[in-house]
Amino acid sequence: MAITGTPDDIRSRARAAFLGVAVGDALGAGLEFMTPGEIRSKHGTVREIIGGGWLRLKPGQITDDTEMSLCIARAIVADGGWSLQGIAESFAAWLRTKPIDVGDTCRRGIRNYMLKGVLESPFNQYAAGNGACMRMLPVALCTLSSEDLLQEYAIQQAHITHNHPLSDAACIALGGLVHLSLLGYSKSRLRRELEVLLSRYENFRFEPYHGLATAYVVDTMQTVFHHFFKTRDFESCLVETVNQGGDADTTGAIAGMLAGAYYGLEGIPKRWLKKIDKNLVGEINTLADRMIELSPFISSGQVVPMRGAEKI
Ligand code: ADP
Ligand code: MG
Repeated sequence: MAITGTPDDIRSRARAAFLGVAVGDALGAGLEFMTPGEIRSKHGTVREIIGGGWLRLKPGQITDDTEMSLCIARAIVADGGWSLQGIAESFAAWLRTKPIDVGDTCRRGIRNYMLKGVLESPFNQYAAGNGACMRMLPVALCTLSSEDLLQEYAIQQAHITHNHPLSDAACIALGGLVHLSLLGYSKSRLRRELEVLLSRYENFRFEPYHGLATAYVVDTMQTVFHHFFKTRDFESCLVETVNQGGDADTTGAIAGMLAGAYYGLEGIPKRWLKKIDKNLVGEINTLADRMIELSPFISSGQVVPMRGAEKI
């Protein structure tokens, strides 16, 4: 893979990260709630976007992971920058469409906003589901190269529904890894960055990996980290992740986000992209471009020195 870090490369990786969310969501959604053994006996190893599952999805159909990411991205682009109220409104409009799947904590937080206009849910010990983390990509794109903004916006958007330190930590760590990937840093650099999180939150440690892929954000992130660092390309990262079953649409979406940002567009199998609705692909590309333009990385004309050589 070319080791470059021009603004065009970064835009392309940004598109790949967003498309990665959709592809991972669609690939995993048909396997949600299954165990690895059930997947193996029913399908062998799943390498294609087959739809189905408990939601009886069409092949290529996406779920709440991609839809909530689109809500955030559309609100940012419509408002020409960060607007928490715009994001909450976008979530509310989405919930009114009666989406095919919504997490309990997501639903509670959005309903709370709709009823009381509250933009921040109170702390709740059960709010450590992965619902805030799965929709982090737009936050990472529009804050590219500012860790301070990333932290601020990650927590703001997360707290609309999820107010829990483990969810916050996962959102910030994932956003940080996506930033480094977009900028062309190496996996060893990403692994060092992740160590900072692991030293503060030991429960995210994923070596040895225990094979839990539930919707608890700790299990979700361990699954994504394990497969991302163990594999060497987008396809095997996603195949291994979703065949772990459990909350496979969300582990798939998050793995797709990170692997998309890291490996870029060339890494995403064409046969998977072809399964995603063409209009959706077009919209995702436009939103990704626009969010990168709004980011401090582009808008301040900042040139970030590339450490491309590390990527070897
Ligand atoms: P979402 O985060 O998508 O809104 P849920 O609220 O349904 O979804 O949470 C997802 C899962 O996370 C649930 O199975 C829930 O039991 C689990 N979970 C949430 N908080 C904790 C926690 N503190 N410890 C263990 N599991 C948790
Ligand atoms: Mg989902």
